[in-house]
Amino acid sequence: MLFSELGLKAEIQRAVAEQGYDTPTPIQQQAIPAVLAGHDLMATAQTGTGKTAGFTLPILHRLAGVANDRLTRIAKTPRVLVLTPTRELAIQVEESVRTYGKHLPINSLAVFGGVGINPQIANLRRGVDILVATPGRLLDHVQQKTVDLSAIEIFVLDEADRMLDMGFIRDIRKIIALLPKQRQNLLFSATFSPEIRELAAGLLNQPVSVDVAPRNTAAETVTQKVIETDRERKKELLCHLFQTHGWHQVLVFARTKHGADALARTLDKAGIKAAAIHGDKSQGARTRVLSEFKEGKLVALVATDIAARGIDIDALPYVINYELPNVPEDYVHRIGRTGRAGMVGEAISLVCHDERAQLKDIEKLIKRTLDRVAIEGFEQSAVAKPRPPQPPRGPRRDDSRARAGNGQRGAGKPSVHPSGKRHR
Ligand code: AMP
Repeated sequence: MLFSELGLKAEIQRAVAEQGYDTPTPIQQQAIPAVLAGHDLMATAQTGTGKTAGFTLPILHRLAGVANDRLTRIAKTPRVLVLTPTRELAIQVEESVRTYGKHLPINSLAVFGGVGINPQIANLRRGVDILVATPGRLLDHVQQKTVDLSAIEIFVLDEADRMLDMGFIRDIRKIIALLPKQRQNLLFSATFSPEIRELAAGLLNQPVSVDVAPRNTAAETVTQKVIETDRERKKELLCHLFQTHGWHQVLVFARTKHGADALARTLDKAGIKAAAIHGDKSQGARTRVLSEFKEGKLVALVATDIAARGIDIDALPYVINYELPNVPEDYVHRIGRTGRAGMVGEAISLVCHDERAQLKDIEKLIKRTLDRVAIEGFEQSAVAKPRPPQPPRGPRRDDSRARAGNGQRGAGKPSVHPSGKRHR
């Protein structure tokens, strides 16, 4: 199938062609006709599947289709609202809107926290067709009466599972209550958990379901393997892997901020240019580290799960799980950072005795047994050594989502997120 067969306006097709895309991705092939037809949509798709264009293109078409005559509608008020969990995603989505809408007289704006509200107010006053927002800042605008949501025709909830993880459910419900009853709703989520089902049931009206990433499985293009070793050999093994493979752009996941810092220091000392990215770093530091990583000045970026959420890098070839996540779904999110848009990727997990239960949970979730490999000289010993004393849990942990084994999602909102513009 070609983009030209989807019936999108010529101006949109031109913008897509200028990006060098001629074939819609599976999510685009399924979502675009459904959205064009005015249906509600429930899409299970990870980042990297082309989901953003999957909703942006038909939305632009629909907006452009109805005469963009400001006199026929409430002046200057947004017609489309896209909610995203992080400012980085808000920026990326709004960039996509601008990219694909550049030949149309449609304007867009991203509003998110952590920056001054006044420039956003000034931009909202000028009039916006497509508003991309994070929930907290949008509610600030609602409270200050600087945004009017009464003319929203299309509502998009992007990365809904992440929103729930981050404790945004109440904000989302407040926002939905402010929207007109008559509207089109699109919900995107990487996983289809019972919580998402519940949210979808209340939000969507006879939705078309699109499922491009079969539930809780990783992209076909990602090779996954487990290297079994001992906890105390992991650092050395990781350095060895870097040195023997000549890797150049690797995202390494650690479970805690403290662990991420320590690991980045170890790699750096071993001559592997590395930095850590997590919620304790200032916005400036995170932006700098991320751009150095994208430019290839850093070979390894060591991230915690929450910090990695805003990182969007095309064609990331390797993801390393230095430690397995506590929550099996996070494994799927982590490895979704590679193998994007059909590119091949490799996800390698270093697993020690203590992590067997987590590995079992992950394998149960993804419904497959991961290949185990041993690296000569780093083989797992038959019996685990006793665990060294653990640092106290709590304030140092990055994950407000560290669940106490009851499967409940935590409700903490991380205060800061890494910055990262899309790397083209
Ligand atoms: P997303 O899942 O929306 O974050 O998109 C992942 C990446 O795929 C982005 O860099 C897009 O620019 C790119 N992309 C989107 N649609 C296509 C397409 N039809 N062909 C190739 N790449 C695409």
